[in-house]
Amino acid sequence: MIIQRVVLNSRPGKNGVPVAENFQLEESTIADTIQAGQVRVKTLYLSVDPYMRCRMNEDTGSDYLQPWQLAEVADGGGIGVVEESKHDNLAKGDFVTSFTWPWQTVAILDGSLLQKLVPQLVNGRLSYFLGAAGITGLTALLGIREKGHVAAGANQTMVVSGAAGACGSLAGQIGRLEGCSRVVGIAGTDEKCSILVQEMGFDAAINYKKGDVAKQLRELCPGGVDVYFDNVGGDISDTVISQMNQNSHIILCGQISQYNKDVPYPPPLPPDIEKIQKERNITRERFLVLNYMDKQEASVLQLCQWIQEGKLKVRETVVEGLANIGAAFQSMMNGGNIGKQIVSVAK
Ligand code: NAP
Repeated sequence: MIIQRVVLNSRPGKNGVPVAENFQLEESTIADTIQAGQVRVKTLYLSVDPYMRCRMNEDTGSDYLQPWQLAEVADGGGIGVVEESKHDNLAKGDFVTSFTWPWQTVAILDGSLLQKLVPQLVNGRLSYFLGAAGITGLTALLGIREKGHVAAGANQTMVVSGAAGACGSLAGQIGRLEGCSRVVGIAGTDEKCSILVQEMGFDAAINYKKGDVAKQLRELCPGGVDVYFDNVGGDISDTVISQMNQNSHIILCGQISQYNKDVPYPPPLPPDIEKIQKERNITRERFLVLNYMDKQEASVLQLCQWIQEGKLKVRETVVEGLANIGAAFQSMMNGGNIGKQIVSVAK
């Protein structure tokens, strides 16, 4: 059977900026028949995520991420529908997902590596299982629960960077649901800031590309910052940390501003900021959602419940067509997305 797939065409280099041309669409073939235990799936949705930048390097810099190989098909979070099954627990028409879904239109996969999805849990919005009801939502929820020390009634102020992105937009809302009394976002456009406040219930948002971030933060967080959900690192984080309170907490979710640089993860803080962090006893422990998968099932149910109740507002930026996945990745890394960046492969 002839299919289409996307392979890694070139590496941007550890200090390079990734571009759409690093990926290439090509025709390929898969077997016409499947073996016992296998399923043939049609791909519906694929996820592009910042961690994939590390997979474009020959050495990802982390033991849990494998590099993509040149001229070989890329993979990541994906959702599809079973077209044919020789696996006992999966039938034609089932919707399934995997963290290692190949970037191709149709694939033959090992059924035991797939998770079955229940569309009703997300009001039929299947792609949410790649975002708000998937690894992104889990990252926001578990990051806050495991590292945020949020306590209802404690009058805490939370600041979120990368706030209009997939994790950030959920983290601010979850911070509020978990008990923070004030939530302030930092994002890269006025439109994003307006969505955070108007749609997602943030108290305020700062466009970091305009004006003096430190001054705006002081005005918007008069009692200082108690919890910082950090998606970006770099100058923005240094500014936030400078305004954090004694015994406050950083949720070290990601450092996207540093991903096109050959630096260790997590990147060390500049000496003056590290001094503040130590003197004020601010926690900054590494957080990796994959370390908390024992909490996945209950946490996904919690996220789905909030979605159904309308307590968690979800935004997606959907790009149509497998051919455009490289462009979707490039755009997301440059802030072109609002909420979760999804690629729709087939209806
Ligand atoms: P995303 O936020 O949807 O996309 C990245 C966003 O970051 C962009 O929309 C962009 O928005 C902002 N950004 C890009 N470059 C920036 C820069 N130089 N300075 C400031 N902001 C910049 O991606 P996501 O999926 O939600 O991931 C957010 C972070 O979480 C990433 O660092 C990712 O690696 C991390 N993550 C961690 C875990 C974990 O287990 N720890 C799991 C998933 C994701 P602007 O317009 O605002 O610039």
